[in-house]
Amino acid sequence: MPELPEAETFKRYLDNTSLQQRITNVEVQDSYILKRVSARELVRRLKGRRFESSHRHGKHLFVRAGDELWLRLHFGMTGSLEYLNHEEVAPKTARVIFRFANNCRLVFDDQRKFGEIELIADINEFLQRRDLGPDALDVNLSQFKEIIGKHRGALKAILLSQQFIAGIGNLYADEILFRARMHPATKAAGLRKKDLSRLFRATRYVLQKAIVLKTDFNRLPKSWLLTHRGKAGRCPRCGRVLKSATIGGRTSWFCSNCQKRSA
Ligand SMILES: [Zn+2]
Repeated sequence: MPELPEAETFKRYLDNTSLQQRITNVEVQDSYILKRVSARELVRRLKGRRFESSHRHGKHLFVRAGDELWLRLHFGMTGSLEYLNHEEVAPKTARVIFRFANNCRLVFDDQRKFGEIELIADINEFLQRRDLGPDALDVNLSQFKEIIGKHRGALKAILLSQQFIAGIGNLYADEILFRARMHPATKAAGLRKKDLSRLFRATRYVLQKAIVLKTDFNRLPKSWLLTHRGKAGRCPRCGRVLKSATIGGRTSWFCSNCQKRSA
């Protein structure tokens, strides 16, 4: 499921392939993906324009197409971007296809149909409407300490809340907690300053490293939880069998030996 590192990877991909080319058509193959905009309006407003720049916040990608005109993309569970030349065939699960003057296409592919596309006038207005917190890679240490420190509940649930910090999902939250050696059910209220600093460093490290590796699962370090996560998986640090539990409404994987509740 695409989280901040995947959204950032799609941003860079889009920046490298699709900017500054005239959009000659937009083909909507399946309209479930359109939020607060019709297929006809999407085509009418983008045709003849160019994608000028992009901006990411949390798991959302915003692509500027003119004054007060931004395309918002959210990748849901399986969304991805693919840039195709004129010979390449679009996948069957291509939901929206942006066609450029050079005959190449940018495809929003989405197998499981949880992706979203919307036109918005202003990014800040959207962030307020959704009540999204600051981007996980934009918060500094003191902001991070304040956000985590003022909320009650399990660390895992706090990390997952897009209203507190935007961009972290289930997989990277588990990885961050594993790296920080904290049990996902640890209560935020009991953490000391140095624990919060450790959690902050783990957050930045995990997200940035995943971006550097272009979120390629096969290139993630073997010392990470992600590559062992799941039934019968073993902790890459101590070798014990990993445990799972539902925390914050999601299945968390962790090592009960390396990640203690009392930090
Ligand atoms: Zn362990």
